[in-house]
Amino acid sequence: MTTVLNPATEEVIAELESAGVEETDAAVARARAAFPAWRAVAPADRARLLRRLATLVEEHHEELSQIESANVGKPISGARGEVGMVAQVFHFYAGAVDKHHGETIPVAGGIDMTFREPLGVVGLIVPWNFPLNISSWKLGPALACGNTVVLKPAELTPLSALRLAELALEAGIPEGVVNVVVGKGSVAGQRLIEHPDVAKIGFTGSTEVGQQVMRGAAGTIKRVTLELGGKSANVVFADADLERAAAAAPYAVFDNAGQDCCARSRILVEASVYDRFAELLVEATRKLRVGDPRDEATEMGPLVSAAHRETVASFVDGEPLFRGDAPDGPGFWYPATLVEARPDDRIAREEVFGPVAALIPFRDEEEAVRIANDSDYGLSGSIWTENGGRALRVARAIETGVLSINSNSSVRVSTPFGGFKQSGFGRELGMHALEGYSEIKNVYYSTEG
Ligand code: NAD
Repeated sequence: MTTVLNPATEEVIAELESAGVEETDAAVARARAAFPAWRAVAPADRARLLRRLATLVEEHHEELSQIESANVGKPISGARGEVGMVAQVFHFYAGAVDKHHGETIPVAGGIDMTFREPLGVVGLIVPWNFPLNISSWKLGPALACGNTVVLKPAELTPLSALRLAELALEAGIPEGVVNVVVGKGSVAGQRLIEHPDVAKIGFTGSTEVGQQVMRGAAGTIKRVTLELGGKSANVVFADADLERAAAAAPYAVFDNAGQDCCARSRILVEASVYDRFAELLVEATRKLRVGDPRDEATEMGPLVSAAHRETVASFVDGEPLFRGDAPDGPGFWYPATLVEARPDDRIAREEVFGPVAALIPFRDEEEAVRIANDSDYGLSGSIWTENGGRALRVARAIETGVLSINSNSSVRVSTPFGGFKQSGFGRELGMHALEGYSEIKNVYYSTEG
């Protein structure tokens, strides 16, 4: 049995049967049975169905936002933004269906052509921090390429994925094309990874489980896309617009209560402006509105679970530079926290996945790049400087998949998203994601004889 809580109230909001191996196998069998007909749907018709799903998400925007906010404890304003993106993702991939195609290659004696073939049944395993959003990043390209899917949401947050699957049916996407299994990662997730009829796993989650996915997938040479953890740097140079950088920095790490793989949780500041910046950052963090996720003005809600709060708390010892306010409870609250750190401290190396940021001074550009790259991860990051040459020089030098200059943004519907190093491999979003859900077939046709 999966018990689903509202993290802001600790109330039970749903009880669901947990899928075991048998139920997971049944979902894979349904997806397999639906595959031949789905891959044969004419591109324009597949696009129309995806567009209809996008429109249904728009029509159910408020309902889906409320589900996501209650299940994850995220502020309703953030949930609305995320659901808005989900609709855009399906619109984008509806438009991409007939734009992802093969080529003809000049060769002697005939004609050589390539085709983009779907993989078959793909298993999509997603985490609890952006349940619907991350599901759509995988579902959109997977369906556009003609695959059928088995989606496994995190045990803590299955509700929006279940509603989305209902909307997919309502949109006219045939039965069996989109399947959802609610179950434990170690049971339902593991079965998907090992199942011989699953051609690929699109996984988002921790680096630790990502390693298990790679190991498990080896048995059947499954394709894998891994979107894993991060410990991204927010690099503030002395020549930056400090007010602007400091006003933005809290949102780069405390959004979604820090439960964000792109969180810029290492704030690297040039030593000559460190004190001034720290002052501005504390002021900006103090202004964060923490509280009831249903309130339109709330900017930070609780953490997802009591267990996760314990993990987050274990990272903070001693007196932090700043600790914000948080409600007492019920709910899994943890205050926005700023700590001063050295690059080798645990807080500067491990992913906290909560509202805790480490401030680290650096001497010069060379040291900034060295500290930024001194990490097992490489997912996102920001650079703040008014010097254009330096901005691009440092952007090229930082080992990360997604980087922004004078901005916090990481994710857009049309641009590639994914990690370097132990943050994973493969890209989501944009046209690049289609590469991960299709196989290139090469066909040579002899014109001789
Ligand atoms: P997690 O790795 O614990 O779980 C992710 C998913 O994997 C869940 O659905 C879970 O049930 C499943 N799972 C767990 N064990 C499994 C197993 N043995 N076999 C198959 N599936 C299994 O991660 P989480 O706690 O849900 O999410 C937090 C992590 O996700 C953080 O590390 C965060 O950085 C990462 N994340 C990465 C991105 C990205 O795009 N790079 C985005 C969001 C979150």
